[in-house]
Amino acid sequence: MRKKIIAGNWKMNLTPREARDFINSIKDKINSDKSDVVFCVPYLDLAVALNLIQGTNISVGAQNMYYTDKGAFTGEISASMLSEMSVRYVIIGHSERRQFFGETDISVNKKVRKALEYNITPIICVGESLDQRRQGITIELVRQQVKIALLDIPAEQAKNIVIAYEPIWAIGTGETATCDQAEEVCAAIRLVLAEIYGQEAADAVRIQYGGSVNAANAAEIFAMPNIDGGLVGGASIKAEFEKVVNYE
Ligand code: PEP
Repeated sequence: MRKKIIAGNWKMNLTPREARDFINSIKDKINSDKSDVVFCVPYLDLAVALNLIQGTNISVGAQNMYYTDKGAFTGEISASMLSEMSVRYVIIGHSERRQFFGETDISVNKKVRKALEYNITPIICVGESLDQRRQGITIELVRQQVKIALLDIPAEQAKNIVIAYEPIWAIGTGETATCDQAEEVCAAIRLVLAEIYGQEAADAVRIQYGGSVNAANAAEIFAMPNIDGGLVGGASIKAEFEKVVNYE
């Protein structure tokens, strides 16, 4: 039985002071054993968040990292830096990074490998645009994204990754994929994992849905057999996140 994992992607929101106020307002309400809960915060909020979640079951993640250990890469953050701070998760290849910052499937793979080297769990984002869905290539595209993201990653490591299926047309738009649409793609992701690693490893991987998850739709989406939680943007920095985490 896979434990659900619900991660908030704060994106470029909340200053350190706002982060402190928000975490203090919500942390006791979402401190449960039912699901793993992760706050993926901006780099500058990491220290505040790590400090405030002590003594809770909440983890802290970053939203990106670079794939080399160190060097002349102005503005970047390494896995070793995240690891030294005890950051346990990192979002890799979010569609906003692919769209605005030139991330590719290849850079995603390099980052995933580096995160795993430092025992940081990558939350790998995949998903199609509206045009791609209309062309009927969603499954083909997502299969390719998953395959490239996992190149040269052995089964033992693959078991620990998280994959977030995030249709781009549902992110921040208020438009959610139907449960059947989300389940279809998440099941296809598990199938490609089984093809690469075998069924046992595929069954261990947690696959999230992301795209306008909120308090009203979380329970229905998370009940689907291949959906093991959510990557939540807008609703993750509101009081509503409590209801998403404590979905019933
Ligand atoms: C996201 O940023 O990953 C996301 C799913 O955003 P939203 O929940 O706002 O659609």
